[in-house]
Parts: sequence; structure tokens; C-alpha cells
Amino acid sequence: MVIDAEHGGTDFGATSSSGIEKLIVEKITNKIKFLNKDENVVVHLTRKEDKYLSLSDRTAIINNIKPDLVLSLHVNQSINVAKSGMEFYVANESAASERSVIIANELRTKFMQDNALQSSEVKKAPFFILKKSDAPAIVIELGYLSNSSDRAYLMDGKEQDKIVATIISFISALK
Ligand SMILES: [Zn+2]
Repeated sequence: MVIDAEHGGTDFGATSSSGIEKLIVEKITNKIKFLNKDENVVVHLTRKEDKYLSLSDRTAIINNIKPDLVLSLHVNQSINVAKSGMEFYVANESAASERSVIIANELRTKFMQDNALQSSEVKKAPFFILKKSDAPAIVIELGYLSNSSDRAYLMDGKEQDKIVATIISFISALK
């Protein structure tokens, strides 16, 4: 199991006055690693600290680990401040695209059951990590930093813990 905290170092990702994408996803991924108590699930992180990694560095790390699943975490931003909610992406074409679609739909359902932000149907996108990963891979946009209520949600430690709990229980149940 690989959790990929995107961005880092000089790459800040989405920014707003009160939140920076790289720090939010880093916090959440570190919590997933720390709070996972299932000994059958080994959580690997592509980055443990605030460090820049190129997309090809990340996919090399991932394909070397040969995980069952890759979750790449982001938060979103838009010039349309009304835009909000979660988004799930899988590759249009990749080694494990069919399995990625199945898992992404299950994960989206799990987030809905756990009362996370609303989300649209799983989408396909030619993102580098998704295309190049040998294992099933999903990009999760956890919410919009540019939307005030999403931002409050993403910055809230308790809400972050709920996101972490959803992911841990999902990957633990995934067989
Ligand atoms: Zn991002």
C-alpha cells in the first residue's frame, strides 16, 4: 500500500492564505502511516517530509515497492470559489486500470458512507502517476482550498482524522 503525499519542498501545490496543499496532504498521509494498526497492511509513503520529488521519482519509488494499491492525495483549487467537494481519478489506460476503477468506486462509496464531502462520479484522467503505476492507482482530491467551507473542513484536525480513519478502514478491508 503506497500513500503518495503530492507536492512538497519548492512545489507548494494549491495555496490559500490559510492552507497549503503540500502541508495538508503531508499531515494526512503521516497520520495514515502512524494510525494504521493492521499488521497485514504495510503503508509506504513516497515522502515523509517536506521534500520535492518529481513525478518520475515518485513512480519509480512506487513501482519498486510493488504495492497492492496507490492512493495519491491532493487538495484542489479553482478560480470558481463556489466549486467544492471531493474528486476521484483513475487512468484511462494503465496496467491496472480496470481494478483501479473498481477500487475507486468502492472508496468513493466508503467516503460517502462516512459523511465526507460530496463527490462526483469517478473520472478518468491521463495523470502521470496513474498512467505509469503498475499497481491500481487513484488520485483523490480531498476538497477545494479555494472554497471557504471546504477549506475550513480540510484545515480541521478532527475532519482530517475522519479522512484518515476512512482510508485506514478501507485499505484494511480491501482484499
Ligand atoms: Zn495537487
